[in-house]
This record gives sequence, structure tokens and C-alpha cells, in this order.
Amino acid sequence: MDDFLDLRSNTIENIDKDLDNKLRPLRFSDFSGQNKIVDNLKVFVKAAVMRGESLDHVLLHGPPGLGKTTLSNIIANELGVNLKLTSGPVLDKPGDLAGLLTNLENNDVLFIDEIHRLSAVVEEYLYSAMEDYRIDIMIDKGPSARSIQLELNHFTLIGATTRSGLLTSPLRARFGINCHLEYYDIGVLTGIVKRSAKILDVKIYDDAAIEIARRSRGTPRIVNALLRRVRDFAMVKGNGTIDLEITRYALEALNIDTYGLDDMDNRILNAIIDKFKGGPVGLTTIATAVGEDSGTIEEVYEPFLIKEGFLKRTPRGREATELAYKHLGKIYLKDNTPTLF
Ligand code: ADP
Repeated sequence: MDDFLDLRSNTIENIDKDLDNKLRPLRFSDFSGQNKIVDNLKVFVKAAVMRGESLDHVLLHGPPGLGKTTLSNIIANELGVNLKLTSGPVLDKPGDLAGLLTNLENNDVLFIDEIHRLSAVVEEYLYSAMEDYRIDIMIDKGPSARSIQLELNHFTLIGATTRSGLLTSPLRARFGINCHLEYYDIGVLTGIVKRSAKILDVKIYDDAAIEIARRSRGTPRIVNALLRRVRDFAMVKGNGTIDLEITRYALEALNIDTYGLDDMDNRILNAIIDKFKGGPVGLTTIATAVGEDSGTIEEVYEPFLIKEGFLKRTPRGREATELAYKHLGKIYLKDNTPTLF
């Protein structure tokens, strides 16, 4: 029985992955939002193509699910070159990286996800490859072992990270193009819901698309995941069309927060309110209270909570806002007058 369940959840995961690929924009023209970044990248890509050169190395940073991998795909497509994907933790030793680098064709793109998790030796090995397109490799073993220098084809490294604060300055300095991805607003996310619904061949009403966008934490990946789940409800419990009623029913059944906050967002707000009287409280104290790394809270969770008005950053620490109290159904004490929501 367990095997059966495992098999089933694996299959669902695979289907979701396939759908994910189907929904991924392949060209700049399909990619909505992040206008400034996209406009700049278009210029840099076009200039590189006109010169017949490789694009400068690109660093993409920002919270998960905002389109870093997607943009890398698009950059490679628009450059008309191959894309090789890998990730920081997978590259164990310099040899792993050397294998990838020597297989790149001229102007190809190498994408390293979670680049902040590269080991120090691999990172150092990357420096000369990025700067001079050269690497040293060891040949032979034992007493006859020696290192030779190998010329590489020119290539573009695209590094993606959710934690840019963890990058060393020598690595950061080697990226000529540096882009910080922001959370998406509801208008753009609504457009993404509609685009995805069209690809999935499912009818959706405007108000239902807005509702899904509103509950997706400013994140296209969450938008697409919710759309797929709401589509399931529409098929089984409705007539296949996604309207506001079935959307609300599905989101309720899935326990999706009305503001789109996730479990960790709510834990952070609850901790500040319940354990520290709403703040101000220091970042490391919050981190200890919720059992999460303080850098992750600062770079991944806090920006969204601040953007949506749930959290304030003050010189004395973080403070929960009135909206946070209201959202969690707690009493907000302003000038010592309790307000019950
Ligand atoms: P990241 O690499 O930042 O974690 P991804 O690039 O994997 O995020 O994006 C997650 C999903 O969200 C992708 O499958 C893609 O379909 C979708 N997506 C991301 N950004 C956009 C966008 N601007 N427009 C449309 N879909 C997007």
C-alpha cells in the first residue's frame, strides 16, 4: 500500500514537473513583470549577439520561484546557444566543474543554481574560468602528476541565488550584470494565471484569476501551482470552468492563507506578536524563536512581509503592524486601547 502511495505521489510530481516546463516562458516576449531587468537584459543580449561575443556573466538574485531559472533559459534561447544547468551543492570538487566547462561550446550559457552553496575550492577554481576562460587541470597520478592549463570556449555564467548576502565579494565582483528580482504585483500575476490557463486549455473568469493571483505570495511558481490545484477542483467538483466560487472553495480546502502568506510567514508574525509583544525585536531573536536561519528570514521572508505591510523594520528591530494583528485575529494594543478584530 505504501509503495502504491509512493508511486502515485511520484507520478503526480512528474506530471507537475512536465506541466511546469510547459508553462515556462521561452522568450522575453512571454515573460511578464520585472520590466527594468528584462529591458536591460534585452539590450545586453542583443549587443552580445551583434558582436558575436559571449554575454557578460549574470547574477540573478531574489526569493525562490520568481523566475531566475526561467530567465536563464530565455537568455540562452535569445542568444541562440546551449544551456547547461547545474547547482552549487552538486559541484563537489573542481573536477566536476572542469568536466562541465570543457564541454561548453562557444558563447554557451552555464547556469549554476544556488551558487552561494559552492564549496570554497570550487568557487576559487571558477575565478580564472570566468575571468580568463582558462582552467588548470591535473593529469596523471602519483609522482608524474602535473597540472596543465586548458583554454576554454568563451561562455556566460549565470549564477542564481536566494541568498546574495552569502556570496563572497571576489565572486560577486566577477559578474558584469547583476539583477535583483522583485515580488510580482497582482496585475502581473493575474496575467500569468491567464496565460497558464490558456496553455492548460482551461477556461477561467477574470475574478477567479485575480483571486488566485492575490493568494500567491507575489510568486509565479505559486500562481501556477495553485492554478493546477484549482483546475482539479473545477474538474471534479464543478463543470471544468474556473469561476470565483470554485476558486474560493478550492483555496479554502487547500488551506491557502487569504493574503497568500505561507506557514513560515505566519510563524514569524505569530512569534513577534505572541512572544515579543509585537516587537520591536531583533532579527536573530526572531530566527531562534521560529528555528530558521536569520539570513534566510532577512532575504527570503521579510521582503514580502514588509512589502505587504505586515512587518516594519525600525532602528530598534522588527515590529508587527496592525495588519498583521488583524490577519492573525489578535488584539492590537494601540496607546493601550485594545482593538479586537
Ligand atoms: P526560480 O528559478 O527563481 O526559483 P523559476 O524560474 O523556476 O523560479 O520559476 C518558477 C515557475 O514560475 C516557472 O515554471 C515559470 O513557469 C513561472 N514563471 C516565473 N517567472 C515568470 C514570469 N515572469 N512569467 C510567467 N511565468 C513565470
